[in-house]
Amino acid sequence: MSKQLPVAIVGAGPVGLITALGLARYDVPCLVFEEDGRLSLDTKAGTTLTRTLEVLHRYRALEPVLRAALRVDEIGDIDRATNTPRASVRTYELTEDTRFPFVINIPQHELEPVLGAVLEERAPGALHLGHRLESFTQDADGVTLQLDTPQGRQEVRAAYLLACDGGRSVVREQLGIAVSGHTLAERYMLVDLRVALDVDNPRDYPYLAYFGDPQEWMILVRQPHCWRFLYPLAPGRPEPDTAELEAKARRFIGDVSDLEVLGTNVYTVHHRVADRWREGRVFLMGDAAHLITPMWALGLNTGVLDASNLPWRLAWVLRGWASDRLLDGYETEQSPVAIKGSGEMAEAARAYMSGGDEVGAMNAGDWGNAFTRSLLGVSLDVDGTGDWSMVKVGDRPTPVRTGDRAPDLPVFGPDGGIVHLHDLAADHVLALHFTDARRRPAIAGPEQPGLRRYVVSRWDAPLDSGLRDSALFDPGARLQRRLGIADDTLVLIRPDAHIAAIVPIAPTAERDVAGELYAAMTATPEREEVHGQW
Ligand SMILES: Cc1cc2nc3c(=O)[nH]c(=O)nc-3n(C[C@H](O)[C@H](O)[C@H](O)COP(=O)(O)OP(=O)(O)OC[C@H]3O[C@@H](n4cnc5c(N)ncnc54)[C@H](O)[C@@H]3O)c2cc1C
Repeated sequence: MSKQLPVAIVGAGPVGLITALGLARYDVPCLVFEEDGRLSLDTKAGTTLTRTLEVLHRYRALEPVLRAALRVDEIGDIDRATNTPRASVRTYELTEDTRFPFVINIPQHELEPVLGAVLEERAPGALHLGHRLESFTQDADGVTLQLDTPQGRQEVRAAYLLACDGGRSVVREQLGIAVSGHTLAERYMLVDLRVALDVDNPRDYPYLAYFGDPQEWMILVRQPHCWRFLYPLAPGRPEPDTAELEAKARRFIGDVSDLEVLGTNVYTVHHRVADRWREGRVFLMGDAAHLITPMWALGLNTGVLDASNLPWRLAWVLRGWASDRLLDGYETEQSPVAIKGSGEMAEAARAYMSGGDEVGAMNAGDWGNAFTRSLLGVSLDVDGTGDWSMVKVGDRPTPVRTGDRAPDLPVFGPDGGIVHLHDLAADHVLALHFTDARRRPAIAGPEQPGLRRYVVSRWDAPLDSGLRDSALFDPGARLQRRLGIADDTLVLIRPDAHIAAIVPIAPTAERDVAGELYAAMTATPEREEVHGQW
């Protein structure tokens, strides 16, 4: 019965909005409740990383975001005292990994309305502003929300409740979930400036640059319409006035003809995570689950990883394609990434900016640095073995492993046209049989909803092979080589583009390995005996 109920999202920050777009992508009805009467006007996150761009692409919301943003293909790392560039992160090293080998700068208060507008197109009327969640109860079939709305108190029934209500999450508090971590003594000062540094006073700073300095580090961000500076305010120091900020900016960039402070924000920085992320039909996401030091753009973008992981799972369960066990993987996979991955990396990056030791992710080789810093290098613990990673290492792409995000390379589809791997996987779990299409491999199996089987080969499947409709042509075996896998290998890829399994296969054997793996992954009743988290 609960299958007909919508999924309720509380909070229309970036994580709530992107999660709603994800649910809309999978045709899951959802309602978004935001207590404020408008989307946030606060100047907050300024950089959106490549992995987030991929998620927005999957949720069909990338183009309007790119139109409003500034694309950046190199992240500078500069010693402030000597103005000497250290190792910069060149995202254009990632052309064999992603269609979007860049990050973007866009202020969060400009990103949110773009996301809100796309959501209105996809799910008209789903976003309810001025609706504050007061309390909720849950039972076996759903969740009942009590809302304070412009029309008075309202009760809404939903299949699940997704708490995207930020660092002070009411939902988390009501569930009695503890938060552990600490708050930094220093605060961060963020200043948006109008200053002509392109033609009149050319400085040629990278569009995104981290200036390390034991005295006072600084981050410089070229926003679409202005420049942004971010630096720490020592404990107890009062907020500087406009004249002070202008003088500081001039000390940093040198004398310029004209300069105006457009806006400022001083904020307290936390490093805190919730002890549990799920309670029955209620899930914590984004800042409600983890407040990460917003260094290296790891605040907002770590929340988007949650919004990448949960929507397809909910869709699979609500469509009856998977058991409730599929939902457990959300916390198992994302919490180590947030707590130990992003959280610890952001703290290490903060120390590095103040002159501390080089962070692992800065000496990982050109490709490794670019991958880790923009694709959030994550390998997820897809099978419950505890094996995950936040960092990739190497000057050149390395072979993929189970749990990795699959590279988004093109192949030629059954219809003849180019199709990228992430697009093929977006709606299905892909079973890719890398084997010689000429030998008529046995890749078929009983129909399982949500699973699609293909043979991938540099030998185009002959029209009389019976495989033509389920064959992907991989000229020069480019995809297979990038994956780094041997002939006769099956690769299972999930809708969020993470690799669920890599196993050798006997191409002519009758055993339906793909079907068995998929049934174990979705924990469908007939396979309950097969354990593992996906
Ligand atoms: C000044 C600043 C700079 C930052 N810079 C960066 C950066 O450069 N890069 C980066 O990655 N991250 C940065 N961050 C962090 C980033 O802004 C957050 O990680 C991000 O906003 C989290 O998104 P969210 O959707 O989880 O939560 P939020 O953006 O906090 O959204 C939560 C929403 O829930 C609503 N809400 C709360 N309670 C209720 C309720 N009871 N009922 C209904 N609605 C409710 C709130 O009004 C809000 O709109 C920065 C943060 C700050 C403050």
